[in-house]
This record gives sequence, structure tokens and C-alpha cells, in this order.
Amino acid sequence: MLRWSINLFRVFGIQLALHVSFLLFLAYEGWEGWREGGWEGLVGSLALIVLFFVCVVMHELGHSLTARRFGVKVPRILLMPIGGMAEFDHIPQQPRAEFLITAAGPLVNFVIAALLYALFGVPKGWPALNTEFPDTWLGLAQVLLSWNVTMGCFNLLPVFPMDGGRIFRAGLATRMNYVRATYWASLVGKALALGGGVVAAYFWHNFLLAGLFLFIFFAGETEYRSVLRREREDAYWAEMARRLAAVAPVTPESPPPRLSDCYHGPN
Ligand SMILES: [Zn+2]
Repeated sequence: MLRWSINLFRVFGIQLALHVSFLLFLAYEGWEGWREGGWEGLVGSLALIVLFFVCVVMHELGHSLTARRFGVKVPRILLMPIGGMAEFDHIPQQPRAEFLITAAGPLVNFVIAALLYALFGVPKGWPALNTEFPDTWLGLAQVLLSWNVTMGCFNLLPVFPMDGGRIFRAGLATRMNYVRATYWASLVGKALALGGGVVAAYFWHNFLLAGLFLFIFFAGETEYRSVLRREREDAYWAEMARRLAAVAPVTPESPPPRLSDCYHGPN
């Protein structure tokens, strides 16, 4: 499903792509804007979305450019209505690397917010939920500031595989093996995602947020399974190599292939 996308352009050599559902989202938001304020409303609403997603791309670039320093290849950043996703060829299993790569994303949001704060300040009463933003360019900059703070904080919730959950796993991985750390991080993440989903749907009637928590719930489970599968494949090949070595010694120049590096199926 993630293949249904449209390539835009490259930033720092990384392909930026839009998921097809993003077009539906733009059409819906544009229509809502038009209903409220005609053409001006339509343009205003689309401009807000573009600015918001520029910040999302910068957040993903924070992860991606830090990951590259640890030898990770980043072929694509995919934008979906629920946010962005940087695709890595692998996730380093060193806690320090995972911590730095992960923290760089929300850090970008806080830096953007700090710059906007220095330039434009905040309206009276911010950050209360019912803060009124002026209907001017100044108000737009302040809305963007507020969004960046929200984006940074929301991503830091310890709900694996969101950024906070990954930082939690990196912390756990300093005390236990990587699979166990992923297991506990995803278990805590799933419980919190379930709780968040119930609160969002039942108390706040925010079904978009509830849907997002549901997505995170399944994403956590999927990533745990893929870590487990990779670990089992590695153990399998290590065992094969041990058996082969008993028959014909394996030279350092010919390590056993990894199943996950050889297989290119729709997984
Ligand atoms: Zn992030």
C-alpha cells in the first residue's frame, strides 16, 4: 500500500514522495476552506497544510541526515495525511546511534518553534487549548510555532515506534538484548496507544487521533515481529555457518549470506 505514491523531488539526495491518500486529504481540506471562505479560504487552507508539511519534512530530515552519519541509507521520505515517514535500509542496533537519530527529529521542531518565538512571540494565554490566534500573517506564524511544539511533544510520547518509544527502547537496550528491549517497548507502546485511542474516541470524539493511535498500535506490533524475524534469520545463518565450518572452514572473505539481504519480496 505504501507503494501507491507520487515522487516529487529530491532533498539532500533523498526522494520526497506523496502517498496517494495525501491528494484526497488536500482535496478535502481545500473543499472545507472553500466552504468557509471561498477561493481565499481554499488558498489559505492549502497554504497552511503546505507549511505544516514543510515542518514535517524538516523533522524527517533531522532523523535522516543524522542516520546517514551512522552509515544508514535513506532512499525516501513518504508524506501521508497522518505525517511523514523516512525509510531507512536498516536501523542501527546501537542504543547511542538510535537515540541520536531519533532525538534529532523532535529537536528540529523545537528549534523551529524557538526561532518563530524569537521572531513573532506567542498570543496571550498560549499554550492553553482555547488560545485565539490573530487572523493575520503574524497569527499564521504563531499557529506554526504552536504546531511545532505539539509535533515535538507528541512524537516524544513513549509509544513505540514513535520517537519517544524508540528512545525508550534505546534506553532499555543498554540493559538487555535488542529483541527483549523491542518487546518491552512495543508492549508498553501498545498499551498506551490503546489507552490513547480510547480517550481520543470516547472522551474527545477525535476520531482522526483515535485512528492515528490504532495505526501506531499495529506499527509497533509489526516492527517487533520484523526485529524478531531478523534475529531468527541471523541465528539460523550463524548455525548454518557453524555446521559448514565443521565440514569446510569458512574464510573471513566469504561470510554466510543473510536471508534478509538476499530476499526482495513484498515484505
Ligand atoms: Zn520522528
